[in-house]
Amino acid sequence: MAYDVDLFVIGAGSGGVRAARIAAGHGAKVKIAEEYRVGGTCVIRGCVPKKLLVYASQYHEHIEDARGFGWTIDGARFDWATLIANKDKEIARLEAAYRANLDRAGVEILPQRAVITGPNSVRLADGTTVTARYILIATGARPSTDEALRGGEHMISSNEVFQLAELPKRIVIAGGGYIAVEFAGVFAGLGSEVTLVYRGEKILRGFDEDLRDHLMAEYAKKGIKLVMGDVFTGIDKAASGLTVHFKNGHAPVEADQVLAAIGRKPNTARLGLEAAGVAVDEIGAVKVDARSRSSVASIYAVGDVTNRVNLTPVAIREGHAFADTIFGGKPWSADHSTIPTAVFSEPEIGTVGVTEQVARASGHAVDIYRAVFKPMKHTLSGRDTRTLMKLVVDGETDKVLGVHICGPDAGEMIQMAGIAVKMGATKEDFDATMAVHPTAAEELVTMR
Ligand code: NDP
Repeated sequence: MAYDVDLFVIGAGSGGVRAARIAAGHGAKVKIAEEYRVGGTCVIRGCVPKKLLVYASQYHEHIEDARGFGWTIDGARFDWATLIANKDKEIARLEAAYRANLDRAGVEILPQRAVITGPNSVRLADGTTVTARYILIATGARPSTDEALRGGEHMISSNEVFQLAELPKRIVIAGGGYIAVEFAGVFAGLGSEVTLVYRGEKILRGFDEDLRDHLMAEYAKKGIKLVMGDVFTGIDKAASGLTVHFKNGHAPVEADQVLAAIGRKPNTARLGLEAAGVAVDEIGAVKVDARSRSSVASIYAVGDVTNRVNLTPVAIREGHAFADTIFGGKPWSADHSTIPTAVFSEPEIGTVGVTEQVARASGHAVDIYRAVFKPMKHTLSGRDTRTLMKLVVDGETDKVLGVHICGPDAGEMIQMAGIAVKMGATKEDFDATMAVHPTAAEELVTMR
């Protein structure tokens, strides 16, 4: 049977764009539908603008720290509107680059919503039907909301936070995951009064316990108010701002903005999945096999919509593997093991491999190497901050099972450490590597 196209991609985010471009490069005829902006969450309202805000937030301390190095910087002021306008310009530039790359690859971009109508057909918002040999769902995820919360409509999500008209003087952030923790650092750095509210005892569930403790201590030093073991019962709006009420006895907190960062949900509603017979799990994520194939043979899915490991580089790999496998005659699948990751908190976290807790629970004899030290820069700045580095080593094989860092440039370091861990390096291999002096990273090869 003849189809209009070889591949129809729904969603022009990280995974969808990569798959479309690679498939087109293999000679496939490809169309991609996007109802919002090309680039997806990461480029438009996620990783990229977030990192720009993180940079902005760091100048506060840089300026203070400069004094110890002989600098006097008078009259430093921050202007939110300038930051947001410059950030928007950069995002527009990136979006244009994404579009140009798709154009160059010969992929047709359809700026509208697409709904699946069968194993090989989609219907566009303008009423047209397109038939395709394969369909790729790459629709990502959206911020979860608390529909039942009284006054919940006064909360913003990570979608809106990048477009606020002004910097909130006081902000309450709900959640203890990546987004909540990162924005707590951003707003504290920019000068807002920050309250971070998490339902558990410690932020960043699933991360190594030492990292969790360390970052909480660093956040407390920055004046971030950590409200643990509590959730909101309601939000009242008055002329002076918002008042957040808590369930477990914490006193109400007043704020100008309340940010909900309580997880994300796959974007599968009203996508036609049920009619096409595409199976989803209990949270609505498309169920796929290792090759990203759904329960319908001609329909695949990559990225956050599958809720495997919700990170941009993972979605990109999944999209690339799908396109090579189906259109390039080179079957492979994305490897979801030992993924290095960073939390752009202040200071940053970089982590790869297993935590001490997981290693111990799996029955390994574990050796732990830990260093906590004052970064060299702060010997002169006088700032009270510490870096934590930790290696989790298999006591029998000497393999490094996990590397966990909280400190400046942890994200940069963990990319390199990730190669070693992925290759199965032993503690002896780390120790045999000459130190680069003076750096923070040298601790990784000198811990005894
Ligand atoms: P996460 O899943 O990381 O964290 C969600 C947080 O919200 C958890 O602390 C969770 O608590 C809490 N939570 C969930 N439901 C509720 C509720 N009903 N009431 C109160 N708290 C609740 O999600 P994020 O939104 O922070 O980020 C989404 C994903 O985006 C991440 O999983 C990550 O993969 C990705 N991301 C990656 C970044 C990076 O690589 N640097 C940056 C930003 C996002 P509990 O722990 O108890 O479940």
